[in-house]
Amino acid sequence: MENIKRYNNIERYYKICDTATSSNYQDFLDLLKSAETLKEENKSVKTYTYSVKPDVVVISNDDLFLKKFEDTYSGVLNVISIYISEKTNNDFYTASEFEITGGFPEYTVNVKVFSPIDFEKCVWCGKCYITCPEQCIDLDLNIDFSKCTFCGECEKVCEFESIQIKLINELSINASFIVIDNDDLKNEFAKIGVELFGADEIDKLFERVGEYQVEELVLHENEICQYSPKLGIGCRRCLQACKYDALYVDDNGIKVNHLLCVGCGGCISVCPTGAMQNGYFKDDVFIKYFQTLQLTEDVILLLGDEENIRKFLWSNHNKSFEKSYPIPVDPKFLNVMHYLFLFSIGVAKLYLLNDKLADKNEVKFVNSFIKFLFGYYPFIEFIEKYDEYSEKSYQNPLENKYNNFSFSSRRKKLAAILKFLYENSEKRNVLLKDNILDIFGNVLLDKDRCTLCLACVNHCKIGALLAKETDYTLNHNPSICIQCRICEKVCPEEAIEVASGLLLADEFFELKVLNKDEPMVCPGCGKVFGNKKSYNAVKEKLSLAGLFEVKGKYLNYCETCRVKMLFGEEKDAQ
Ligand code: SF4
Repeated sequence: MENIKRYNNIERYYKICDTATSSNYQDFLDLLKSAETLKEENKSVKTYTYSVKPDVVVISNDDLFLKKFEDTYSGVLNVISIYISEKTNNDFYTASEFEITGGFPEYTVNVKVFSPIDFEKCVWCGKCYITCPEQCIDLDLNIDFSKCTFCGECEKVCEFESIQIKLINELSINASFIVIDNDDLKNEFAKIGVELFGADEIDKLFERVGEYQVEELVLHENEICQYSPKLGIGCRRCLQACKYDALYVDDNGIKVNHLLCVGCGGCISVCPTGAMQNGYFKDDVFIKYFQTLQLTEDVILLLGDEENIRKFLWSNHNKSFEKSYPIPVDPKFLNVMHYLFLFSIGVAKLYLLNDKLADKNEVKFVNSFIKFLFGYYPFIEFIEKYDEYSEKSYQNPLENKYNNFSFSSRRKKLAAILKFLYENSEKRNVLLKDNILDIFGNVLLDKDRCTLCLACVNHCKIGALLAKETDYTLNHNPSICIQCRICEKVCPEEAIEVASGLLLADEFFELKVLNKDEPMVCPGCGKVFGNKKSYNAVKEKLSLAGLFEVKGKYLNYCETCRVKMLFGEEKDAQ
């Protein structure tokens, strides 16, 4: 019911136009209704209410600042203070190090807190103060660990066993906000998407406390994300694109902070793998949507959010279009793949009803790429004044049109479209290096160094690097490579170099064998248990360390036979 109601609104905008009375528009509106219903039925957006509690962790190496903060805000905020120092201050948790995970409003602060004195047991007899040979205990029983030699005299004199001078407790504190009065640290955390508040930003913090209506519009699929949180390397395009601090990294990968996300689409449009998706209109639905529309050749598409589609149609109510189709697809979420897909299926001109996108690198790349391949320019344009729109005739330069509406992932679809465009152009053996859109790469491998350990394959979630067990080969498809360079960094043999650029040549669009090996066959049972290069690499390392005779004796046997051989040796010895 909802779907129909929503579509009725869109249809009303079209019906105000003269053009809607023409027979081809009637057919178009029927198809648009089906496409919009498909969009509605396939949306994956969760909405709920979230309450942000006023729980604040304040971190400082200035105990006076912490005291003042507690005095000022403790009535309205739940404040936990962490004092970073080597001299304890018993009014606060004193720690020498801390770690922050999570993001607003679910941070966890892990701290190692100096906890030498158990104040439940201490009777303030003062003997430790008097005894300490280094005078590192003061009149308030604060201890200066920069002077302490851990001689243990204080522990010996304490009748109540309330001192364990080396005791450090580990605490995990959850908080909605973290305040830190150190700009350098604040900026360091900002680089990994963790937004901390400075001492002068408490007003901003108060604005965030309360109830929120949350809509999880941006979805992140970790399975195809080429950022490695454990190694801290890889593609960071979304993190760099988000202007609202709404993305952060935790142990499992990149996360979306839905409270801060404003749905600007910045991360989705730059994501080369498709790990970032618009929950209202995922990539697979986009492809099906345009399949449903059954566009004829050389159409002019006008893409905009519903608001801009309405404004465009109202402004052109007295015009009749032959080839122009305004479509409620918000272009701020679109990526290179989407634009090139529309060109490939025969769209002759794409007008985006959002001139803020004119500077987008994706738009610039698509226009220059199509110009380079086919001398056709510009495919994508913007309309400044809707009422000045007048339909012209355009012809898509492609002789054959792309008609494959299957979908597996954004990058694989882009690779297929690039191949199609390359095959339909006359450009051959040209390397396109585009510094504004660095999402193309080519793995160059030093075969002699590579041991086929497959560390690179294990980190290539997008599937540009593949291992084939059947013939012991390491393979690469450059057209899928996004140039994240994780393989370059994880290769233990430093055998990989990633060259940047899109190579317009047959080999760029095919799976090519980078390296090949033979299987290791166990002489005991005949089982295949690895490959020869890995075996030789381990053997060489053990030999260099003088360990081969001891540890590597039965290395050429499979695990089961190796154990049997070692046990056999032991028995013989007995
Ligand atoms: S290229 Fe490096 S990481 Fe990949 S299989 Fe070869 S040695 Fe291992």
